[in-house]
Amino acid sequence: MVMVVSMLLRLDELVEWYTMGSASGLATAQGRQPLFSFGLISDVQYADIPDGRSFLGVPRYYRHSILVLRRAVQEWNTHQKNKFVVNFGDIVDGFCPKDQSLDTVKKVVEEFEMFKGPIYHMIGNHCLYNLPRSKLLPLLKIQTLDDRAHYDFSPVPEYRFVVLDGYDISAFGRPNDHPKTLEALKFLREKNPNEDKNSPNGLVGLERRFLMFNGAVGKEQMEWLDGVLRDATELKQKVVVCCHLPLDPGSSTEESLLWNYDEVMDVIHRYNCVKVCLAGHEHKVGYSIDSHGVHHRVLEAALECPPGTYAFGNVDVYDDRISLVGTDRMESTDMHFNPQVYL
Ligand SMILES: [Zn+2]
Repeated sequence: MVMVVSMLLRLDELVEWYTMGSASGLATAQGRQPLFSFGLISDVQYADIPDGRSFLGVPRYYRHSILVLRRAVQEWNTHQKNKFVVNFGDIVDGFCPKDQSLDTVKKVVEEFEMFKGPIYHMIGNHCLYNLPRSKLLPLLKIQTLDDRAHYDFSPVPEYRFVVLDGYDISAFGRPNDHPKTLEALKFLREKNPNEDKNSPNGLVGLERRFLMFNGAVGKEQMEWLDGVLRDATELKQKVVVCCHLPLDPGSSTEESLLWNYDEVMDVIHRYNCVKVCLAGHEHKVGYSIDSHGVHHRVLEAALECPPGTYAFGNVDVYDDRISLVGTDRMESTDMHFNPQVYL
């Protein structure tokens, strides 16, 4: 009897040694400890104006939205586990009085900068309604060549983040005679017969994305994306793609999709490294897994949180899954990678 107890203890000790001591490798492989965590928030769309409604009648709380951001930053700082924060764009609303645009963008950026760590911003259509790219990018500390707003970063050797610029080809944000503005206007004339290019009237199914408030990834950015994914594949990195505009029809309405989401996904599907695509713009929760096993999660907007409610997330990143832990109105989503394309 004594001997059995002793053996049980030894077995117990062995299990303890194996799970705790044999290395963080085992714990990580089983998903117990994240490799790292980060915070995220989308569509703050702050403006010092009375509450209103979207085109579809959804209430918008323009003054409360900055309080959602403030609460998010407080929580991220309290937990101290997030290595960085990703902002999915549209920090200021298009209804912000234009003489207040600069100060309002600065005010929201300052709220973000209360976070004790790096913040990775991306631009949205509402940002560009307020300020041109030339003014916006330095304020958001997006430091790239020319007026490019796409970039990548690698928080740990195992992972790469790709931030796409969905307004690379856009009808706004640059001078009216800029080649990319002209390219966008020509594209819209061909694809959308309505006088109001923000109206999807008469457009059917996926054609309904050809609206002025959306945009496209240009040729040069597409080649850059291909190069980054090739490099990530060689380095055996897993990739998270972030874009203001959704990239999969299963995750959002047609009206919110990137104009050339299909071309971007064709590039992504050439490789097995992209595991998750995250987006904003749609304002409501969306989630899908595409034909290649890539997860697409579209994020709830901070703007649409009634006073006293919140929407932001903490994301735990593991070797074999990414777990979005939502706060309050943001849903949680556990995204397990397809074992067929695990490496
Ligand atoms: Zn947007």
